[in-house]
Amino acid sequence: MNDLFGAESSIRAARVLLDGFNDMVLDYAIPESMQHITRGYRVMIPLRNRLTTGTVISVGTPEAVWKNHLKPLAALIEDAPAVSDKLMDLAEWAARYYAVPVEQLIRCIVPEPVRRERHEEKTRKMVVLTQWPGDEEMNKINTRAPRQAAILRYLHQGEKKREPLADLGGSPALAPCRALEKRGFVRIEDEAVHRDPVGDEVFAPSAPLALNDEQEAALSAITAACEADKPKPIVLQGVTGSGKTEVYLQAAAHVLQQGKGVLILVPEISLTPQTMARFKSRFCESNTKVAILHSAMSDGERFDEWHAIRNGEARIAIGPRSALFAPVQRPGLIIVDEEHDASYKQENTPRYHGRDLAVLRAHLENACVVLGSATPSLETLFNVHSGKYTMLRMDKRADGQRLPLTRVLDMRTEAKDKRNLGILSERLRMAIEDRLRKGEQTILLLNRRGFARSLQCPDCGHMVCCEHCAIPLTYHVTEDRLICHICGYRAATPKKCPQCGSAGILLEGYGTQKVERVLQRCFPQARIRRVDADVTTRKNALRDILADFRAHRIDILLGTQMISKGLDFPGVTLVGVLNADIGLSMPDPRAAERTFQLLTQVAGRAGRGDIDGEVIIQTYTPHAAAIQYARRHDTDGFAEDELKLRQELEFPPYTHMAVLTVRSVKEEVAEFSVNTLHKRLLACMPGSVSICDPMPAPIAKAYGQYRFQCTLKCSSARLIADVVSAEIRKLNAGEDVTITLDIDAYSFM
Ligand code: ADP
Ligand code: ZN
Ligand code: ZN
Repeated sequence: MNDLFGAESSIRAARVLLDGFNDMVLDYAIPESMQHITRGYRVMIPLRNRLTTGTVISVGTPEAVWKNHLKPLAALIEDAPAVSDKLMDLAEWAARYYAVPVEQLIRCIVPEPVRRERHEEKTRKMVVLTQWPGDEEMNKINTRAPRQAAILRYLHQGEKKREPLADLGGSPALAPCRALEKRGFVRIEDEAVHRDPVGDEVFAPSAPLALNDEQEAALSAITAACEADKPKPIVLQGVTGSGKTEVYLQAAAHVLQQGKGVLILVPEISLTPQTMARFKSRFCESNTKVAILHSAMSDGERFDEWHAIRNGEARIAIGPRSALFAPVQRPGLIIVDEEHDASYKQENTPRYHGRDLAVLRAHLENACVVLGSATPSLETLFNVHSGKYTMLRMDKRADGQRLPLTRVLDMRTEAKDKRNLGILSERLRMAIEDRLRKGEQTILLLNRRGFARSLQCPDCGHMVCCEHCAIPLTYHVTEDRLICHICGYRAATPKKCPQCGSAGILLEGYGTQKVERVLQRCFPQARIRRVDADVTTRKNALRDILADFRAHRIDILLGTQMISKGLDFPGVTLVGVLNADIGLSMPDPRAAERTFQLLTQVAGRAGRGDIDGEVIIQTYTPHAAAIQYARRHDTDGFAEDELKLRQELEFPPYTHMAVLTVRSVKEEVAEFSVNTLHKRLLACMPGSVSICDPMPAPIAKAYGQYRFQCTLKCSSARLIADVVSAEIRKLNAGEDVTITLDIDAYSFM
């Protein structure tokens, strides 16, 4: 695997992935003094007339024709590999599985602040995309100023539309950026560099709790696995409040004692600050540091934490999905908390699944992996059934609390009272009023409305679904048609409900702002706080809101799914779910599973203090399995039914599904490319792969680009990846077309 160069010459060469924005790989000769280097070393290399930095991705013997043309490596950044062999193996495996260049995985393993090594800066320049010029203008810019065009495209493809100047090529890129700024396409701003992720927060030390029987059994099974050779992955299915975190803490202490490291993955640090705090508290008196890694951290912080982990100064690392790549030395235990959480899937390239790669990393490192959840994903349960994973259960709550009473309110009758715009039923309104009177707190949850518009009848709750997949059809305005985003089936838009004949069939969505207005009108004296995506883009904003809520400076907290994660507020005795149906209306094979998980999760959060909690779910489909099983807290019943359904429909986990997306600023180019690719794939695909007809994406146009997609299905994800990436390469589409393949897709939009 190391020898990419053939064995003809005695000169050894290193293949180096350059830091910078274009994923460039170049070969360099290895000078006499550096013969010992291996893949994973960080090096300085000459490029044109300057020095730059990079990571060695393989070492071998160059082809004879090249050997005399290779420039030598200039220096080693440090005399030890920055990336371990195991992580390199992980990168190579993941690159092939997800059909992306290995460079993209190396970028995850050696994060940007580490690649830049410029940690002494107090501020750094950021370039923000303020306006996408559109296709015609882009063509002009491309011919006149290709560097400017490249910068715009790079910013545009990123998730945040905002990148450090250093990533756009450093100071040489400043001139083109300034030119773009003059024309109003970008803005250049200075960003402060902070260092410590948790600042001056102080953590009170905590002692291990005496475990109950269920916890004791789980802990001994986990510690036994930590000592075994090639242990099976462990699933820890414990109801909310069963004390999973305490088990993690004691298992981690055990592994540290063996001199090994611990890696803990959580859905998102800023949403689950208590997990981080509990680890900090438990280990603050030991001589090992707990390193925190998360996306909102500054470069300096990330640089420091990364190095602390790699040096072994920190032997516990906590972070979201990307933390699975943290350079923990000799990891003995990897914990994936809330393993079912959709945020483990990365939604931009490389589109890896954090939980799946954590399982692979544990396998490569000979470590024990624990997948914890109250509502494990069906993928994970499927692996339990097939004997690949071991199941441990904790069915009792450790804090002695009862599970809250859950009521399902049928909005088909409740919403007849139009005063509150069908947002708040009388029943829920009275329940909130009651809490306000008693000085107790309420959480109201609003399922975020996606871009997909599906049709639901407000009178009978009927949802218009695909005949083949039982998935809600998505309404496309431009064609005035309904399309199934799983199989490509198309249907005319019904004028009235096929079930009951009612005429008011289009489902109207509403956002958090509208709900906030209704709440303010209903409860003028209440202190209401809204949390949504825009609030959380500011660093610590969410933390501050949650702290206010905990201190009871807020009576009603209103937010989307994000506030359902890891909530732990003793003062909350009422949780209302305003529109349980939105989740079910998504064109997604996992829609029911997600809804079930969300409802079960919130139901586990009400009433953690001494007062029993109450959960009220408002819905137009009170009979839906996801809602009924969640009401009864019946995870096994739901999983059994849903797995049967998935098997019948040939959905994951019984098969792998991938989404191929083609984007371009020119509609005809995108459409032509997707059709050509589809035709070629049909011609060469083995029979075991099915591919649906191309269709416009539910978000047919975004950021000035037209988007087309098709869905592929096969029992082997590898087969899809290999065949599709070969065809994408052969297609050799122009620069104005972006083609992405999402293996094991979690979003079909
Ligand atoms: P989970 O992670 O499963 O939702 P937690 O670990 O948050 O559950 O535990 C729920 C509550 O129960 C916490 O307040 C925790 O301190 C408490 N707890 C956990 N284990 C024990 C125990 N063995 N004895 C007493 N309290 C416990
Ligand atoms: Zn109807
Ligand atoms: Zn279908």
